[in-house]
Formats: sequence, C-alpha cells, structure tokens
Amino acid sequence: MALPTSLLIKDFGGSMATKYIFFTGGVVSSVGKGVTAAAVGRLLKERGFQVVVQKLDPYINVDPGTMSPYQHGEVFVLDDGAETDLDLGHYERFIDVRLNRLCNVTTGQVYAEVIGKERKGDYLGGTIQVIPHITNEIKRRIIAVGKSSNAELVLVEVGGTVGDIESLPFLEVLRQLRSDLGRENSFYVHVTWLPYIGATGELKTKPTQHSVAELRSIGISPDMIVARSDYSMDGSLCEKIALFCDVEKRAVIPMITTPVLYEVPLLLEKAGVADFILERLGLPVRPKPDWSEWERIVEEVRKPKPSVKVALVGKYVELHDAYMSVREALKHAALYLGVELDLRWVHSVDLEKGRGWEVVREVDGIVVPGGFGSRGTEGKIQTACYARMEKVPYLGLCLGMQLMVVEFARAVLGNDEANSTEFDRSTPVPVIDLMPDQRTISDLGGTMRLGLYPCQLQPGTVAAQAYQEDLVQERHRHRFEFNNQYREIFEKNGMRFSGISPDGRLVEIAEIVDHPFMVGTQFHPEFLSRPNRPHPLFMGFLRAVCERAGVEHR
Ligand code: GLN
Repeated sequence: MALPTSLLIKDFGGSMATKYIFFTGGVVSSVGKGVTAAAVGRLLKERGFQVVVQKLDPYINVDPGTMSPYQHGEVFVLDDGAETDLDLGHYERFIDVRLNRLCNVTTGQVYAEVIGKERKGDYLGGTIQVIPHITNEIKRRIIAVGKSSNAELVLVEVGGTVGDIESLPFLEVLRQLRSDLGRENSFYVHVTWLPYIGATGELKTKPTQHSVAELRSIGISPDMIVARSDYSMDGSLCEKIALFCDVEKRAVIPMITTPVLYEVPLLLEKAGVADFILERLGLPVRPKPDWSEWERIVEEVRKPKPSVKVALVGKYVELHDAYMSVREALKHAALYLGVELDLRWVHSVDLEKGRGWEVVREVDGIVVPGGFGSRGTEGKIQTACYARMEKVPYLGLCLGMQLMVVEFARAVLGNDEANSTEFDRSTPVPVIDLMPDQRTISDLGGTMRLGLYPCQLQPGTVAAQAYQEDLVQERHRHRFEFNNQYREIFEKNGMRFSGISPDGRLVEIAEIVDHPFMVGTQFHPEFLSRPNRPHPLFMGFLRAVCERAGVEHR
C-alpha cells in the first residue's frame, strides 16, 4: 500500500500568490506575541495589502468557550459567533478587520475533524497518524483562511512557546510549509524574551539562543527575531543575537515594553519591520504610511489629563485579561473624550461580604461585565441597586444587564424572589429565563445565542441618543434572555426597553428611565470598539461619568 503523504498547498486549492508570515514564541509566554502579530498586520495593511490573521491554539478544547476565564482570559466573540482566543481581539483592534471562525484553530478542532472522518471510514483502512493526517488537517485550515479571505498576506500565530509538546504538530506544519510555499512566500518571526539580571544590570540573550536552537531542531530557521524586554538594549546585544541565531542584524528587532499598547506598530515601523518583511517576500516596498492618526492616539495617551474613576465589578478581577475588551473599550472612549481612565477592580464576592464598598462609593461610574454561574451575582445585584438609587452611571454588559433587571424586579416591583433561572431554577419570578425553544437543548457548547444580531433602537432613549442610529448589529454570547411576560409591568414602573430585536421578540437593551445613564445590553458592545472608533455606548457611559465627576471632556 502506498505510504500516506503530506499534502501540498495546491492539493488544498491554495493560491501560490498568497504569502504567509508565521509567528512563534520563545522562552516564556505572555510577552506580547499576539500584539506583535497584530501590529505587523497593521503595518502591512497600512501599505495597502489585504491582510488576515489566524491563531493556532495548541490546547485540546474545541474552543475557549468552555474554559474558565482564569485559565484563558477573555473569550473573544466574532461576527459569526465563533468563541475565540483573546488575541483575536488584538488583531481586530489593531488591524481594524472583522475576522471569522476560520481564524482560530485549536488542536481540539483538528482532532475532532480527523477522528470524525476516521469514524466515517474516509481513510480507507489507513492508520491515522499525527504526520500526515493531523498535519494535513492543520495545513488545510491554514490554507482555508487565505482562500476564503482573498488576503494577499496571511499572518499565522502559533500559541504557546517553542518546546511545548502540544505545539509540535503546528510547528511541523510550519516547517513543511517553507518548502511547500517557497522562501519567497513564507516568513518566520520568532518572538522571544530577554531576562534582566538585576545583580549585574544586564539583559541576557542565552534563553533566546536556546529557543532558536530548539526551533532549528524542529527544522525552522527564523527570518526575524523580535526580542522583547523590559529594558532598552544596545546595538551590540542585537548583533550578538544576530550572530548566534543566524539572522541578519536588521532582522533583530528590540521591543521594549511600552505602557502604551497602541505604540507597538509605531515602534515596529521605526525598526523597519515591514520593509524587511516585504523585501524578503519579494513584494513592492510601498511608501511608508501616514501614521499621524496613530501618533496622535499615542500622544493623547501620554498627555496628562483629568481622570475619572470607574469601577469594574466582576468575579474574575484578579486576572485583568478576563475583561480585556471591556477595559480596552473604556480606554478607547476615555481617549476620545480626552480624559484619563482610573479603573478600579472590585470583586463582586467581596461586596457580598461587605468589603470593597468604599471603592464603589468613590467612583463616578460602574461597569458590570458578563459572566456565567451564580458566584458573586448577589454582589452585582447590590451594585446595581446602589447605582440606581444613587444615580451613578452604570453600564451592564450581558450578565450586567440581566442582574440590573433582577434588581429592578426585586427592589422596584417588590418581588424579593425574582431571579434569573440560571441562578434559581424554581424562582417564582423568572425575569431572566431561557426562551421556550431553548429548553430542550442540554449540550453546553450548543445552546448559546452567539455572534451578530440586529437591534432596533427606540427613539428618545438614552441608548438611541448614544448610538445616533436606528438599527445596529452587535455581538452576543449568552443563553438567557429577558422574559417577555414582564415587559409591560417593568415599563409601567420605570424601566425602558431601548433596544429590541427587529422581530420584537427579544429585549436587547434595557435602561432606567429616571437616571442619567443606567443602561444594560444583552450583547457585548466591547468587542466592536476600536482605538480610533470608540463604541457609542461606552462613549455615552463615560460622558455621563465625566458629568457626574464634574470633569470637562471633549
Ligand atoms: N450567564 C448569562 C447567560 O448565559 C450571561 C452571559 C454573559 O454575560 N455573557 O445568559
């Protein structure tokens, strides 16, 4: 019998005109590989190339949707409802693109596909192996993203760090792709970390050398090394890395940690990253883009500004990454309004125990973000009560909206036992509940309303005022909905449904009538905020915060 073979790009119908840039990480994780990939994407987009970015995640979960935010940080939701890695949020914000589910591949998806085919007998009695079956499936998915997006440049980031057992099949595919695509169509960026030794006051390149050696042992030679560090490094260090790691000196890019995330593209531009990549890929090195808008953003961030205090009341606050997009959306709005965001993290479980209220009382605005499960919900309900009574601007995102509704039912309508059936299945007043057609589904991965849905704004409401539009599309990720049985009584008592699905079936936005800004959304507006295009609801919220704080804004 013929040996199983590795398939080539052309076998998947891939175009040889598409060029690929691969990003791997070395030494340690969390050094900003995702931000680097996103920023490189921006550099190339600015030069007029059509760009798409894909993340390959080595874990065995099919997607991060079932993972605890403590494990993984935020789940970033796309238009098509894909629940993806938070790096996709960086890609979308930096490059200002809308990605789709092909852009996040996990080991779990790859194995599920291959095992599914095996069960159907598609492999005709063959032995299924990592090479070529798993690697072919990975390759198919890499090619698919290029094909479907028509991008000229496909950026592919491999999660984890070189040396992890889990990422080996992905790296093997990257290795195969070099000969498959040819040198002129593939480019490898390795992002590493230079530790600082306090005793001698120096940065060390040895871990980078080891990491590159490891990468080479897999058969990949990097074309560029982005050396991340907390301290600036002199040219001799770059020379050393170039020499030991066998890359050109101008391809060693020192990347010092910056407190201003959106400065990264400017730093990479200055270091000549795009020109080098384009030259190597045989693409025209187009004139340098006009970065004035980004420069203005970075300058704005740096400027001293009056600050406004906002509390984020959540249950994963120990890990700020769990609320990455919420924090970014707040920052975008603050930037636009010319104020400094002083964000205070409050644990909702603490509030239940009477702790942390001094922080809540001190701020001029409160955000209650999304979440699942009952832990900390009573603390959030108490927060909503405080915001409503004290007329403190409040923005409730998904769960934050649902609990604002529960609070209203309890305190205003006097139904002490009102709840969401997520937290109390037998509550006599289920103001938040599953829709009747959802009740029979039990698979946790398949019951959610995910992705983009339309929302019709009701004229004359706070939300409509913020949006200045009639119909918007927003991203969702939830199982429960406002229970329509209660619409009338809520409306009679001072809650307004300012956003409704066009068919009238679903409440999308709720707000308190006699309040400067108490708005809850069933969707997650944070996913569509961009540094240069803050989301209207975050803007509306922060304007109200400024007004309460007596801080002038633009
Ligand atoms: N747990 C709630 C639901 O499933 C809210 C989800 C969320 O906040 N994203 O409906």
